[in-house]
Amino acid sequence: MICSFVTRDGSRWMPKYLTAIDGATCIGCGRCFKVCSREVMHLHGIDDAGEILGVCDGEDDNFDGDLNRMIMVVDHPGRCIGCGACARVCPKNCQTHIGADTIAA
Ligand code: SF4
Ligand code: SF4
Repeated sequence: MICSFVTRDGSRWMPKYLTAIDGATCIGCGRCFKVCSREVMHLHGIDDAGEILGVCDGEDDNFDGDLNRMIMVVDHPGRCIGCGACARVCPKNCQTHIGADTIAA
């Protein structure tokens, strides 16, 4: 497939969209969220069994004592522009990205 995405100077550019984050590996550091301009992912709390409890801002939100830790969840994948910034800052390499050329039109 020929890439139809280009940068400002006309160079070819292949967006790589964030599709998933491995909750078992993610440490919830928040770095990816801070560099993302598109609100694609948010921190969620999980319980001892690894069940996602909901969006968690870390302030007085312990889900009635069930909160074990926080992980980042890709809850709005459709907003991603494939810039790749989140992959560059993740210290755990727990993100999955797919090239725009692998997505059906
Ligand atoms: S690739 Fe860019 S737009 Fe997509 S989630 Fe990562 S930082 Fe956000
Ligand atoms: S940067 Fe990596 S380890 Fe940190 S919250 Fe994002 S996905 Fe998880």
